[in-house]
Amino acid sequence: MSEAELVLRSTRVVTPDGIRAASVAVTGEKITAVLPHDAPVPAGARLEDVGDHVVLPGLVDTHVHVNDPGRTEWEGFWTATRAAAAGGITTLVDMPLNSIPPTTTVDHLRTKRAVAADKAHIDVGFWGGALPDNVKDLRPLHEAGVFGFKAFLSPSGVDEFPHLDQEQLARSLAEIAAFDGLLIVHAEDPHHLAAAPQQGGPRYSHFLASRPRDAEDTAIAALLAQAKRFDARVHVLHLSSSDALPLIAEARADGVRVTVETCPHYLTLTAEEVPDGASEFKCCPPIREAANQDLLWQALADGTVDCVVTDHSPSTADLKTDDFATAWGGIAGLQLSLPAMWTAARARGLGLEDVVRWMSARTARLVGLDARKGAVAPGHDADFAVLAPDETFTVDPAALQHRNRVTAYAGKTLYGVVKSTWLRGTRIVADGAFTEPKGQLLDRA
Ligand SMILES: [Zn+2]
Repeated sequence: MSEAELVLRSTRVVTPDGIRAASVAVTGEKITAVLPHDAPVPAGARLEDVGDHVVLPGLVDTHVHVNDPGRTEWEGFWTATRAAAAGGITTLVDMPLNSIPPTTTVDHLRTKRAVAADKAHIDVGFWGGALPDNVKDLRPLHEAGVFGFKAFLSPSGVDEFPHLDQEQLARSLAEIAAFDGLLIVHAEDPHHLAAAPQQGGPRYSHFLASRPRDAEDTAIAALLAQAKRFDARVHVLHLSSSDALPLIAEARADGVRVTVETCPHYLTLTAEEVPDGASEFKCCPPIREAANQDLLWQALADGTVDCVVTDHSPSTADLKTDDFATAWGGIAGLQLSLPAMWTAARARGLGLEDVVRWMSARTARLVGLDARKGAVAPGHDADFAVLAPDETFTVDPAALQHRNRVTAYAGKTLYGVVKSTWLRGTRIVADGAFTEPKGQLLDRA
């Protein structure tokens, strides 16, 4: 510990081996040791004793729509990464769509990186996009450092990012499998969606009926079959339908390389509580019933679902109309994902170590960053969230750093106040005050 520059001390540090009292030694940007709580502080090192506040590894959110450039009025790198930092997130991976251009060629990736470079308050990586006509761009994007490729199996919501039919999916997957890349998929089947009743209007029950579980289940079954055919790595984005869980468990047992994420809104909000006309709760696939939610929690506990990500996908307030059919579909939750998840987890008798596993360790592993992110352990980046887990606050949209202060969590009282956030050894947020941007742009390792 003789070379440590900083010692972060707490009675509760979430480590890969459990929660314990510890002194975390940091040199430069890295954790060098996790020592006993009462370890002597070396001469010249600065001690930050956070008392009983919990030290977590900074969260890694692999599903964020930053929308910059092109739809910066919806969100942007400056606002998204500040909101993330305020919420204890130290790494995000940006989705390839809703920005213009979408991240579907190396040129477009360069544009996105140039826009993000001096605005990133946290570390930022990029997903590429798989479109019907860009198979030739996939390998160059992979080599340029994207973490994998996103595809839709039903309309995405924006014209410049068309979805893949099964034949196009097969072509993209064959190419991605050839370099052992990762395909991440919005899995809803367009034919099942078209066959569902599309009544529109402000009734949430009508919206829910328009995006039925069998649309997800069918698309996931087809994806699993294609993954098996090409021995490809696939990831199911934002799983909402618990009916798909047995399919996923079976495919895994059969050797299919599939991982699965779900989101705080599916785990903490229910269809039963969504007021009619409240399109801040609209996302696709939709928030479903409480009984469905219980099964998602069970799947997290038993490992069928690997991880939890925000799918932060905001728009301007005017697009959140009271007609569920036409309102923008996306939930803004970046800054609130940790307290929302912690509040629900503790009510179910689960611990912060579980939340960290789902929102930091497993997401870091998903994108291959687990050698440097997602754990308070020697050799890892000194990324931390310092959390007061027993303090509560009531969500006031005006206090959010998101560009548009529309949120499904407004008025909720949540446990868990983020006191400070640290990025590679530097405190970047403390009690609501931010440093200048210090984030790096990340490439696939
Ligand atoms: Zn998304």
